[in-house]
Amino acid sequence: MATQIKKLTPYAERRNFGKTPEPEPKTHIQRTKNPLFVIQEHHASHLHWDLRLEINDVLKSWAVPKGPSINPTEKRLAILTEDHPLEYAHFEGTIPEGLYGAGTVMVWDIGTYINEKTIPMDQCFDEGRIEITVKGKKLLGTFALIRLKSSEKNWIFFKIDDAFAHTGTAITKTHNKSALTGRTVVQIAQEVKKSHE
Ligand code: MN
Repeated sequence: MATQIKKLTPYAERRNFGKTPEPEPKTHIQRTKNPLFVIQEHHASHLHWDLRLEINDVLKSWAVPKGPSINPTEKRLAILTEDHPLEYAHFEGTIPEGLYGAGTVMVWDIGTYINEKTIPMDQCFDEGRIEITVKGKKLLGTFALIRLKSSEKNWIFFKIDDAFAHTGTAITKTHNKSALTGRTVVQIAQEVKKSHE
């Protein structure tokens, strides 16, 4: 578990757990089921969607400014960010003003994924070529996540053309409620406000 603590140091260093409602990393989490995938809609200074994949004992994380698309011709920039603890997959709430990542977070989609490559996920990550089939509440089917050449942090995230691909209206617009609680981002923010009154 020591490696997990080390991986989560940047996450912990950016946050004051006395002030933010975000989860503090725990060390005892041991999962045996299919690995988690989650996409959180984050209304920070710039709206973005955070894509997170459980790889070994943390959530590898990417910020996707334009959000996921199920149109295979739309390739989304995905910027690698710090590893998050597994508990973060269920985090929904508002990070107060002035703190790192201030703004409301909604669990846009959550589920599990299967690695489509023949090598382990951590190796796929290291090589910058990930192909997964997701089983979420909104997203289904196969997606690719490819690191751009000559870049450490910039990846592209896109749908592979399969039965679940679709070219209509953006799925982030047609499906804009929490996959966890059914709330809109406005409702989440209002409930947080009320709980502080
Ligand atoms: Mn974010």
